[in-house]
Amino acid sequence: MKKYDFIIAGGGMAGLSIAYYLTQSTLRDRSILILDREQKNRNDRTWCFWEPGEGPYESILFRSWDRVEFHGTTLSGLLDMGDYRYKMLRGIDFYEFMQRHLARFPNIEIRQATVNRIKETVQGGFVIADDEPLIANYVFDSTFALNLSEPENHNLLQHFKGWVIHTEKPCFDVTRPRMMDFRVAQHNDCRFVYVLPFDEKTALVEFTLFSKKLLTAAEYEADLRHYIDRHLDTGPYTISETEFGIIPMSDVPTKENPSEHIIRIGTSGGYTKPSTGYTFRRTQTYLRNLVQNLAQTGKPHRPKSWFSGRFKFYDSIMLNVLENNRYPADDMFTLLYERNSPAQVFKFLDEDTSFGEELRVMWSMPKVPFTMALFSVMRRKIVG
Ligand SMILES: Cc1cc2nc3c(=O)[nH]c(=O)nc-3n(C[C@H](O)[C@H](O)[C@H](O)COP(=O)(O)OP(=O)(O)OC[C@H]3O[C@@H](n4cnc5c(N)ncnc54)[C@H](O)[C@@H]3O)c2cc1C
Repeated sequence: MKKYDFIIAGGGMAGLSIAYYLTQSTLRDRSILILDREQKNRNDRTWCFWEPGEGPYESILFRSWDRVEFHGTTLSGLLDMGDYRYKMLRGIDFYEFMQRHLARFPNIEIRQATVNRIKETVQGGFVIADDEPLIANYVFDSTFALNLSEPENHNLLQHFKGWVIHTEKPCFDVTRPRMMDFRVAQHNDCRFVYVLPFDEKTALVEFTLFSKKLLTAAEYEADLRHYIDRHLDTGPYTISETEFGIIPMSDVPTKENPSEHIIRIGTSGGYTKPSTGYTFRRTQTYLRNLVQNLAQTGKPHRPKSWFSGRFKFYDSIMLNVLENNRYPADDMFTLLYERNSPAQVFKFLDEDTSFGEELRVMWSMPKVPFTMALFSVMRRKIVG
């Protein structure tokens, strides 16, 4: 049985990113096998994220903006993002960049195969892929499915359907993406639309919900059409691409290191920010730190302080407010951006704030619903 230094189960966003950071470290010569059941040759998703200054993928960004529009209930207009930029990266550009980069390393093998089993053994992490047994010092697993059914956790879903539309007449302002437009019927959920312009005649329009239940295909489409007719003066348009996605917004406790030789990464490792669903940039930060620690100490752990655990608690409170509909979501997000600078909100959501800054952001939220949510979270998480 062939033994590798590292097997990466799942060569999607997190799997390819960890391989990339390994090639940039002193571990670049180690034997690495990347397994994915797909070829990763389709534009299967588009990542958007905010970031201060330049990040690792500047050369392959599809678009980048220094301001975004927000349309809430009592606040509507452009948000000044300070040093942050809102960035858009197409899946296909990321996959091709990674494939080109990793092909330069003869010690890295990418294989199209289905992972059937991952198991801890005394010799290392054991993997069965397409019925072939394989072993590695460490297995990085991004194929593990989270359990989103335990009642003590908040288990919302972020689900969305988007269309890339082409219009006949110029109608989009390429400098003004809409990050959150709440001018859609809320139906006691949290519902909003993104409009990300590619050029004056092309944009990705995405209808997004935070809720427990998915809609039917016809419902997403009806809301998309309604929004385009009402809020975008497009005239006739054609649809060239569709995107549908579901991202877990859950505070389920995740095990990044379930055993000595197995490490879960990406969505499987709980890298998704529960209260927003944003995963891309956190994954980059977490994996850079993980690889750095692995190179320095030989241990594939992400250094964490116990105090950083407070952010999970904030996430649970926010999920509790949303899940129990304790306050209208469109009003809540409006207050967040009305009472805090967008840069401060991004810093808070990136978990880069000091405790004092966090108290200021939380103080800007409606007191009664958030206090009720706090007690509810304590009851659910501690009493069970
Ligand atoms: C449509 C969509 C849009 C998103 N947009 C954003 C965004 O704008 N911003 C943001 O921050 N986050 C976004 N996310 C959330 C998150 O960033 C992505 O889901 C991201 O791809 C997660 O990375 P990952 O490596 O954990 O999972 P994936 O990228 O899904 O990678 C997992 C890989 O494992 C493979 N795999 C799974 N099971 C097996 C198996 N048994 N055998 C072999 N291979 C297997 C899959 O083929 C896949 O390639 C989006 C998610 C989706 C679905």
